[in-house]
Amino acid sequence: MITATQGVTRTSRCERCGGELVSDVGQFIERGQLAWSIEGQCQACRNAWCQMDTGPAPEEIRQALLTTHGPARLRLADKGASIVPVLRALREMHHLSLGEARLMAAELNEVGLIGTSVEMAYLAEGLRARFVTVTITSSVT
Ligand SMILES: [Zn+2]
Repeated sequence: MITATQGVTRTSRCERCGGELVSDVGQFIERGQLAWSIEGQCQACRNAWCQMDTGPAPEEIRQALLTTHGPARLRLADKGASIVPVLRALREMHHLSLGEARLMAAELNEVGLIGTSVEMAYLAEGLRARFVTVTITSSVT
């Protein structure tokens, strides 16, 4: 089951024949896992590929999504709430040290974390699973 998804279609020049290459890059959450994909197909020759993996997306994909759709901002809804479940969720999802998780939690509590909407939805799912209430807004306000 896919619970969040975002994609961009781009065109570039085919390395093999110079024709028009159409590629779809995207990020999504499938069965609670953050994942990404890139699919390309030349309109003129047989050059085509498809790549997919779980985990953080390559920077190129993130930038394409951020440029097209804009970043999302995730914040803790209740600033007075306990930070313990937040630290647990962050460490589990991002394999962070306690120090790194503390920095990330502080950001969540203050300015908010910025990322693609799928990355923020993924974090929000993990936090909500631990009964942490969060809000996601478009960061351009
Ligand atoms: Zn081609």
